Amino acid sequence: MTKKENRIKPLRIKKNDTVKIIAGNDKGYVGKVLKVFPRKASLIVEGANFIHRHQRPTSGGAQGTIVKREAPIHVSKVLLICPKCNYPTRIGQVVLESGSKLRVCKKCHEMVDA
Ligand SMILES: [Zn+2]
Repeated sequence: MTKKENRIKPLRIKKNDTVKIIAGNDKGYVGKVLKVFPRKASLIVEGANFIHRHQRPTSGGAQGTIVKREAPIHVSKVLLICPKCNYPTRIGQVVLESGSKLRVCKKCHEMVDA
């Protein structure tokens, strides 16, 4: 294992967030986050970044098929869409007196987590 994997940063983007893709083939696409991979700092956006998986024919006689699947996108390539102001935004963090952390929109300064 490399040193890199010892320092996993918690991601600012979570499952079910709406994000906008800002780089790559699907630039401009807006979709829902289906899955996050904190170790890889990447996530899967619904309907974006499709890859074609070529499936070999099985011995059972089934034909080989090409399956379309969403591939993970690096977090740096997406921006969270703020549910309050509807703009793609960066996310800040506030720590409450209770010690819990909340995400805030850098644009409208509203809490992203209701
Ligand atoms: Zn906002």
